[in-house]
Amino acid sequence: MLNPPVHRASTIIFKTVDAYRRRHDGFYDDVIYGLYGTETTFALARAVADLEGGYQSVITSSGSAAVALALAAFTSAGDHILVSDVVYGHTRRFCQEAMVQYGVEVTYFDPLIGGAIADLVRPNTRAIFMESPGSHTFEVSDVPAICAVARKHGIVTMIDNTWATPIYFRPIEHGVDVSIAAATKYMAGHSDVMLGAMTAGSEEIYQKLKDSAGRWGVSASPDDCYLVHRGLRTLPSRLRHHERTAKALIEWLQGQPEVLRILYPALESDPGHKIWKRDFDGASGLFGVVMKPMDDAAIDRFFNHFSVFLLGSSWGSYVSLAVPAAPPPVRLAGTPPLEGTLVRFHAGLEDPADLIADLERAFARLRSGAA
Ligand SMILES: *Cc1c(COP(=O)(O)O)cnc(C)c1O
Repeated sequence: MLNPPVHRASTIIFKTVDAYRRRHDGFYDDVIYGLYGTETTFALARAVADLEGGYQSVITSSGSAAVALALAAFTSAGDHILVSDVVYGHTRRFCQEAMVQYGVEVTYFDPLIGGAIADLVRPNTRAIFMESPGSHTFEVSDVPAICAVARKHGIVTMIDNTWATPIYFRPIEHGVDVSIAAATKYMAGHSDVMLGAMTAGSEEIYQKLKDSAGRWGVSASPDDCYLVHRGLRTLPSRLRHHERTAKALIEWLQGQPEVLRILYPALESDPGHKIWKRDFDGASGLFGVVMKPMDDAAIDRFFNHFSVFLLGSSWGSYVSLAVPAAPPPVRLAGTPPLEGTLVRFHAGLEDPADLIADLERAFARLRSGAA
């Protein structure tokens, strides 16, 4: 067989008392208890770590769990963390609620801050959490510049790399300590799995991530690990298709008078283009569109009647999605580029001509004023 088979387990049987006594030496690396994974989990962890160019990965039950466990791994009461202002909604909630509950102070930084992040560093700053491009507004951060400051101050850096995947961006090569993936999205690729991964740049970081996952009792289903591992086989080919289709949709959208701006760093006109081009090998299928202001009736007319695009939020699979950014993203640092109504598209694996025909009908509905 080619793919590692599914090994399901809770109880693991040991041959000798000695092996049983020493079982915890190998948690998350050897098969010692179902919670910490089986050969299926470890095969996926190894594959993700290889793609990320990292030391090793810990697989978690969701992308949200990977974010939470990575933050929990490096923080204690009295610490301060710097979090990008454009992080995924659940990440912001975790910081606002759990981090604050456990006595960690959080400052949100402008994703375009670059090396000036040095001004926000305090003696108790322990971690910097980035996401690039940012959720909903797609700002690209200067990751190497931020990491250089962090390294000088002994601060751990982590990044949510879900949009690019390690096929298009390898954060560890740019100085990041922990690369986080919602494997639920492109890695799984078929809208039927929840899984996450935290990849460590070094053995020392890996140990901290394992400790955190074990402490919080997080486990990953071997069946889901199998599916994500299988998904990795086609990840580069799928991404190329997502990218081509996104570009075709964007080209069409740019010709519509209702479209004020496209948020997608692969566009030369995008403010993040220069850094994206320097650091990334490609762009995925998710992008934002700032439309002329739409009232609720216009939003209903536009979104309620698509026949190819679907209305849903977990992107990264074969289906194309169109959603209004509702509620609008929260921003505390910097000014979001939102002079109109923000909508988000995911380009799936359908025929681009069918998608464009669907868009043509939606824009016609918008103009006609009829549902
Ligand atoms: C979806 C997503 C997550 C969360 O992943 P889940 O597996 O849905 O918990 C985290 N970060 C980003 C950028 C995401 O898009």
